Amino acid sequence: MKKRTFLKRTAMAATGVTVAPSLLFSSCKGEPKAAEPAAAALAPVVFELPEIPYGYNAFPEIIDAMTMEIHHSKHHQGYTNNLNAALKEAGIGDKTLEEILAMDTLPTAIRNNGGGYYNHNLYWDVLTPGEDTGSAIEPAVVEHFGSMEALKNELAEAGARRFGSGWAWLCQDADKKLFVCSTPNQDNPLMQVAERRGTPLLGIDVWEHAYYLKYQNKRGEYLQNILKIINWQKVASRMA
Ligand code: MN
Repeated sequence: MKKRTFLKRTAMAATGVTVAPSLLFSSCKGEPKAAEPAAAALAPVVFELPEIPYGYNAFPEIIDAMTMEIHHSKHHQGYTNNLNAALKEAGIGDKTLEEILAMDTLPTAIRNNGGGYYNHNLYWDVLTPGEDTGSAIEPAVVEHFGSMEALKNELAEAGARRFGSGWAWLCQDADKKLFVCSTPNQDNPLMQVAERRGTPLLGIDVWEHAYYLKYQNKRGEYLQNILKIINWQKVASRMA
């Protein structure tokens, strides 16, 4: 996986490491602290809410601006704040977000808010107001699902069948096989609780807060529409 780190120290983070906003967040890891005394407690990693590069009104026919704004500035911000508080509370530092989510024993607050933070980073990252850019991933999709249409149908079905709140995923497992799955709440396939584990390439939020203002109970319609604005180029770039 392509690693891009956006690390910076700020005066505000004198006791910790601030991880600057990044929608490509695969390697948000605290800086090495070799110069500090070995006995010093690990400084907690501090995650920040990423910007949405295309803005809240990028696809009003698919997701209305108010939903986008509340989803990002309230829900995603909330997960971010609560994750940072939970990491501080648990004294967890010097780990990537992926390492944290894959821990053997995941405190509930970190499971819920770390999942919420990671999942929404990915959600915004793989949407695009531009044109369908499916060609880069198409050979792999055809190999595993038969066609792009078949993959989209499988994703829509996984999202529609999720009872209550959760996510539909396209993932890649350790053998580089692509698969579609769904997780409840803010769980994701990086976690040990997942039925099938893998690296998420694409995540679709099926919590009601993601679509209810525009679609009310019509989750299926939201799923059909959001699959029209997937940045397949970005999804492809996440494959190992
Ligand atoms: Mn959400």
